[in-house]
Amino acid sequence: MSKKMRTLTEPFKIKMVEPLRITTEEYRQNALEKAGYNPFLLRSDDVFIDLLTDSGTGAMSDKQWGGIMMGDESYAGARSWEHLQTVVQNLTGMQYVLPTHQGRAAERILYSILGGKGKVFISNTHFDTTRANIEYVGSEAYDIVCKEAEDVESYHAFKGNIDLEKLETLIQQHGKNIAAIIMTVTNNSSGGQPVSMKNMKDVRAICTKYGLMMVIDGCRIAENSYYVKHREEGFENKTYKEIAQEMLNLGDAFIMSAKKDGMVNIGGLLTLKDEALSVKCKNLLIISEGFTTYGGLSGRDMEALAIGLEEVFDKDYLHYRIRSTAYLGEKLREKGIPVVWPIGGHAVYIDAKKLYQNVPLEEYPGQALVIDLYLKGGIRCVEVGSVMFGKYDENGKLIPAANELVRMALPRRVYTQSHLDYVLDVFDDIIEIKDRKKGFKITYEPPFLRHFTAHFEPIK
Ligand SMILES: *Cc1c(COP(=O)(O)O)cnc(C)c1O
Repeated sequence: MSKKMRTLTEPFKIKMVEPLRITTEEYRQNALEKAGYNPFLLRSDDVFIDLLTDSGTGAMSDKQWGGIMMGDESYAGARSWEHLQTVVQNLTGMQYVLPTHQGRAAERILYSILGGKGKVFISNTHFDTTRANIEYVGSEAYDIVCKEAEDVESYHAFKGNIDLEKLETLIQQHGKNIAAIIMTVTNNSSGGQPVSMKNMKDVRAICTKYGLMMVIDGCRIAENSYYVKHREEGFENKTYKEIAQEMLNLGDAFIMSAKKDGMVNIGGLLTLKDEALSVKCKNLLIISEGFTTYGGLSGRDMEALAIGLEEVFDKDYLHYRIRSTAYLGEKLREKGIPVVWPIGGHAVYIDAKKLYQNVPLEEYPGQALVIDLYLKGGIRCVEVGSVMFGKYDENGKLIPAANELVRMALPRRVYTQSHLDYVLDVFDDIIEIKDRKKGFKITYEPPFLRHFTAHFEPIK
């Protein structure tokens, strides 16, 4: 193909289409009022470009849809299960494979067995459901992402890495109470930033030295392999799959939400090296998810996942995937929109505190940007700031989150470059109103995870 090509050139063509509804600003104003100005409460039919999440929102290939028809729905020992098991064993180098309905089911099973009162888990960054499952069983979760990640604007090739010094210190402090070290790859809650092979190998060495278990939360292991190949010395000539295999082999256990790099709309995996632990996990799997050869999945789900786990390592797909996220982020930066840098694999994060400088933190600048993006362009995304993580002091005053970000996550194989160009156009409208002075107040909020169901009102 032409070397001069500047377009993203999606490495697929379209065989089936899903219509998008184009609405007016007045229509969207009305929809927002009905939804209490919370994007989670909007109807998807009222959204034009949906960047709420990359979880379970991807498009399957013709091969996967073909696999759906071939799914073996036998209760035990189904062909589709054998297919999935073979693919996963080959990828992870781990013998014991447990299918689950989602990533969090795998987390609940493993962490309720490893955890308990007084136990400690340490991670580069625990994802929300990971932390919730750990805390639910009375354990503590420590996040120790590397120092370079603190500065959101400076470049560093592997901002998802764990801080090895802090890791050693925490191990000295907590000793025998440590249940596991969890490496999240890529580091979702820290901007989708990658983890280097070197960092993973160092963690492996530390785990071996202290006799600790290393769990890899590898929802986006293929995306991570892209960065290792292109940013880390010594991997230029390896395939993405070889890099993933090398990395996963370092772990004692692997957890995956298949809704990400599994390229399917539902599914999860728990994979283990240790037989005794796998027996305990299988017992819990049977009680709550289903028999060991289907977990919470149908045969056709497992067939599509087995195929998806091969497709995700296709070099043209991964290039398109990582480049389209970077394209959106780089073009926004060129327009002067402050973004978390460098751009991660699955999402672009905008610094709303910087963009909407005049909106006080108590009036949620991130929420204001989320609402403006929907109102101006029918784009749906999510606030990752004080709405999500803010707390109140004893006088009811907001203690803001560390950052006021807005996340635009890209579903896999769903949107084309022209959709992204449209999003960029909408930001020209945002730039015109960036000096807005007022934001939003919360009129209703539940006690936990308020961002999902809270209601808001614009401050006049
Ligand atoms: C999505 C995700 C999970 C949870 O998986 P679900 O399939 O949503 O239950 C866990 N860890 C990470 C890093 C994730 O991105």
